[in-house]
Amino acid sequence: MKNQMVIKMRWHLTTAMVLAALAGLQAMPAFAWYDFGHEAVAAIAWNKLTPKTKERVTALLSKNPYYSKWLAQVPPRTSEEDKNMLVFSQSATWADAIKKDPNYHADGAEKGNKPDGPACAENLGYSDTRLHKYWHYDDTPFSPDHTTLPPHATPNAQTQIETFRKTLASDSPDDLKSYDLVWLIHLVGDVHQPLHCVTRVIHDDPTGDKGGNDCKLNGKPDNIHSIWDGIVGDAKELQPAIEFAKSLPEAPKSQAKKSDEKIWIAESYKLARKNVYTKPIGKTNGPFDLTDKYKQQARKIGEQRIELAGARLANLLNEELK
Ligand SMILES: [Zn+2]
Repeated sequence: MKNQMVIKMRWHLTTAMVLAALAGLQAMPAFAWYDFGHEAVAAIAWNKLTPKTKERVTALLSKNPYYSKWLAQVPPRTSEEDKNMLVFSQSATWADAIKKDPNYHADGAEKGNKPDGPACAENLGYSDTRLHKYWHYDDTPFSPDHTTLPPHATPNAQTQIETFRKTLASDSPDDLKSYDLVWLIHLVGDVHQPLHCVTRVIHDDPTGDKGGNDCKLNGKPDNIHSIWDGIVGDAKELQPAIEFAKSLPEAPKSQAKKSDEKIWIAESYKLARKNVYTKPIGKTNGPFDLTDKYKQQARKIGEQRIELAGARLANLLNEELK
């Protein structure tokens, strides 16, 4: 308790400095929970890591090509613990940030959104400058009007989480573990977003709505995928995400201890069918007008998924990096 007080006091002291330094943080492009949600997932996880795991992830993240960029966002005189936490939180957005980096390029089919062969599953480390956009989701197709379903694409978020966690537990070189770690920190967040685990196939959209991207809304944002990405918040700065993470209630232990990523994905799929594609979303691609009731329910689910993702990410890292 006393220790918590000290941490809290130290936190308040550094908050003003962090806010000042991060006010100028470059706005990142918006993808999947947006940066806000990913940073919150990581901040939740950080506080549940063992001291040994914290030390190990900090050493691995120092091998990422963006490490100096992350460090540059840490205000001077920040404690070592807070510095490492701020770096860890920023690392959760690396897999999205590279989409705007000219050193990386789209691969696969359909503007990089679909894998086009076994090479798409290669786990090569930082020498690989392919974006692997299709690693960000595991879109399980379903159809409310009995349209024939397209094949379930692989590799996807599930196959990659499975691959990366095995690497962390193996005796692979640290360079590869670093690459797999930043992907894992990101993907555990992604698969807790219901629309990263489903694609709705209808007669007029037989290849699927791409996780709700084709399902349109009146106004802004203009599709349900973006609504869910930003439902918990979309602040561009790091600090509000970290404050948000601290405000969430703990996830139920019975839920948090589930370690199989296939279960996380099945939960998201179920939530999408029940709570995403529900009134006022009809059985077409819209456009629709969302109600306040829909958004309130979505926010509640979003908060639960973020907290759960953070707790599960911590369990995963504590387990695999033993
Ligand atoms: Zn993503």
